[in-house]
Amino acid sequence: MDEAFLKQALEFGQPYTERGEVASYIPELSKADGRELGICVRPIGGETVRCGVWNRRFTIQSISKVVNLAMALERFGFDAVFHKTKMEPSGASFNSMSRISDTEDIPFNPLVNSGAIAIVELLGPVGLEGMLSAFRGLCSDPDITMDEAVFQSEWTHSARNRSLAYLLQSKGLIGENVDETLRLYTQLCSLSVTAGSLANLGMLLANGGVQPETGRRLLKEEVVRTTLTMMLTCGMYDGSGEFAVRVGLPSKSGVGGGILSVVPGEMGIGVYGPSLDSKGNSVAGQRVLEYISRTEKLHILDRYTR
Ligand code: GLN
Repeated sequence: MDEAFLKQALEFGQPYTERGEVASYIPELSKADGRELGICVRPIGGETVRCGVWNRRFTIQSISKVVNLAMALERFGFDAVFHKTKMEPSGASFNSMSRISDTEDIPFNPLVNSGAIAIVELLGPVGLEGMLSAFRGLCSDPDITMDEAVFQSEWTHSARNRSLAYLLQSKGLIGENVDETLRLYTQLCSLSVTAGSLANLGMLLANGGVQPETGRRLLKEEVVRTTLTMMLTCGMYDGSGEFAVRVGLPSKSGVGGGILSVVPGEMGIGVYGPSLDSKGNSVAGQRVLEYISRTEKLHILDRYTR
């Protein structure tokens, strides 16, 4: 995969930026330029390829849920995590309340807001500083910082997530520390990354948790397997099924416009395109990934037919 190919993929995706809108429910995010599009691809042991607006800093938003899940699995183990959430696609929007209402005792999965807030409660003792260094390490990006303006903007418009957090508390899934948990969840959504940082994280996951350059294991193999499975089945919210058919790669989106995609055993991909569809997924980013996956036969099931 070379830069000329990525240029073609971005050209294919570009017109789709017109079909979405930048997020506005977090007012600060509405300042993004919806026409921007960029990509970075990091093959294991190969040359990094980049194209378009790949080094724009934007907030990681829900892609933080991947790191939160991996860290919670790593530190507290499988049972502690899946005591807090199920492992099922919710088929509902990322901030749905209905999917954890009276009939459901626990959130559907760790990659929707309700599940992620429950997981972040586990990470309370790690704290913002500890999590920041985990994000920097896993993304091989020492320049990740918290975007204070985006944090404040979300924090002052967090009625929905606050309601979810109190609902979780009423079900005994989080304790007295609702405010602290929600603050940490929101701070972790406000970390600034680039398509490059996401590609680095993707490459680490593609390589089973071992950093290819140093040979250091940063995540256990089973943590990576569980995390990737959740990304494949639940990473694009209520668009996860169609995305799995069209692209077929474990991926995670965020309303900042990022998509993290993993080609297991081969490469990590980071995409930036802040114009979103109605589900909160980058509208052009998904098309770019579809183009790449189809052309290069990267769909995880293609490996059995190619
Ligand atoms: N911070 C956002 C929220 O909690 C993340 C949502 C997203 O990226 N889909 O609403």
